[in-house]
Amino acid sequence: MPIIPLLALPLGFEVTAFSRQEETLCVSLLSTQACSRCPLCGSAATRIHSRYQRKLADLPSTGQPVRFLLSVRKFFCDVSTCPRKIFTERLAPFVAPRARVTQRLFQIVQVIGLATGGRLGVRVTDRLGIQTTRQTILRRIMALPTVPVGHIVELGIDDFSFRRGRTFGTILVNLQTRQIIDVLADRKTETSATWMTSHPEIRLVSRDRGGDYASAAATGAPQAVQCADRFHMLKNLGEALEGCLSRHLAAGK
Ligand SMILES: [Zn+2]
Repeated sequence: MPIIPLLALPLGFEVTAFSRQEETLCVSLLSTQACSRCPLCGSAATRIHSRYQRKLADLPSTGQPVRFLLSVRKFFCDVSTCPRKIFTERLAPFVAPRARVTQRLFQIVQVIGLATGGRLGVRVTDRLGIQTTRQTILRRIMALPTVPVGHIVELGIDDFSFRRGRTFGTILVNLQTRQIIDVLADRKTETSATWMTSHPEIRLVSRDRGGDYASAAATGAPQAVQCADRFHMLKNLGEALEGCLSRHLAAGK
């Protein structure tokens, strides 16, 4: 029975051997595509320079981790004007260049990460036979392209702490859609001002009562109306009332 359909391998691969190492199913693969396109000039190369072995983790099979031992070739580019003389054959979309996992495993870990988050994701991948770590799951999520910020008319801006109050960043919210649209690595006036400069459509900036974001808005979005957000207004009001009442209480004693 041909094994290729069982492993759902794309065309251009041949299975040469199977072995088992502890719990892992190891499959030796040979790339058999007749030619490979030079990544620089795009011409089809057929002259083989050498072979080397790549280890790739793939989707588990019936709960067993699967590892491919893939024999990859290096080709000569024979186009005399091309500066690239030797290159490694491209196996996309099955495997990205220099990746240590197949693209389908990469995507499954990404989907699990999006559905569960890092810590819980590891519990799910463990049960499925996918060997990964919390950090890898988070890296897969971070590898997703970010949605463009788009048109922003009403902007909410505030700071947040990365590491329990030791490092601060800035969070930007579209007040009309109530969605976080961007995160900045610090809370410096210049950083926020530069961000706002690239959005001349901003008409309103809601910020805290401190001076940094107010001056960022004055510099980066001078056309916008500024207002203090409700949370900080109420916080300031509460603190003012507290001070006033404690003075009254002290005077009444
Ligand atoms: Zn070339």
